[in-house]
Amino acid sequence: MANETKRDILLDVQHLKKYFNVAGGQLHAVDDVSFTLERGKTLGIVGESGCGKSTTGRAILRLIEPTSGSVYFEGQDISKLSKEEMRKLRKEIQIIFQDPFSSLNPRQTVSQTIEEPLKIHGMKNKAERQARVRELMETVGLAERLANAYPHELDGGRRQRIGIARALAMNPKFIVCDEPVSALDVSIQAQILNLMKDIQRKHGITYIFITHDLSVVNHFSDDIAVMYLGRMVEKAPAEALFEEPLHPYTKALLSAIPVPNIHSKKERILLKGEVTSPINPPKACRFASRCEYATDKCRCEEPELIEVKPDHFVACHLLKKE
Ligand code: SF4
Repeated sequence: MANETKRDILLDVQHLKKYFNVAGGQLHAVDDVSFTLERGKTLGIVGESGCGKSTTGRAILRLIEPTSGSVYFEGQDISKLSKEEMRKLRKEIQIIFQDPFSSLNPRQTVSQTIEEPLKIHGMKNKAERQARVRELMETVGLAERLANAYPHELDGGRRQRIGIARALAMNPKFIVCDEPVSALDVSIQAQILNLMKDIQRKHGITYIFITHDLSVVNHFSDDIAVMYLGRMVEKAPAEALFEEPLHPYTKALLSAIPVPNIHSKKERILLKGEVTSPINPPKACRFASRCEYATDKCRCEEPELIEVKPDHFVACHLLKKE
């Protein structure tokens, strides 16, 4: 990737694959995904349900074991670490889940929930733990009076704040945010996104932000990667991707975002055709069955992700490096 020697790369993912054995063959959930991510930046990963974006996040963190590929975190290949080494590293790499309610223990109060990772990672002094819990509650905007409340007594936004406080407990360097605002009302979404951005500014945390909603990721991400059926089909700085999407699938996704200006003549691109099965997919462009530009080459050769402009990567036979 361009100018990489000058960049402070925190995460380097190379040829990551996750296949699942299913009836009829292998489901290629993540298929040869490679990218780098700079320290303190946010990479948004977007795509429809089933495109492999959440599986990518979990395979990077080894919450599920990748089928193959390497994940370098600060230069160390974490795909080769033992369980014990991985347990120690978990302080630095964290996840925030989509549904805060199901990821919280209903029998634990707010303070017990936030205290748990501190106990797990060996903070033995109770007074220190409690002070850290108070500090974390303040960081995520949870009032002290909620310390003894249970998850069912709180709204979705507050529950997600608990999830964020837990993820922050051990001062991580990197967090995978898996659809963290999808289950929340729009007004609460903005509050949580602002909170996460503030925390990033203060603590220099690096995020992968996974979402099906391009409009959410636009103002939040430095770079955006678009996935389609397990493959990364486009990756670019957020502004470039919104101004000049190059892959036919990205163009269709962007055309579906409502524009507030009633005079705007943006036309929605409706995708037709069957979605290719991710089980034993053919050696072809996986978008060919829905792409209006598909040629014979697209149906028998898989396009590689190539850099067609500085920092703008696309996997499409129509595009070549300028
Ligand atoms: Fe469409 Fe062919 Fe490009 Fe695939 S490779 S997106 S089928 S033009």
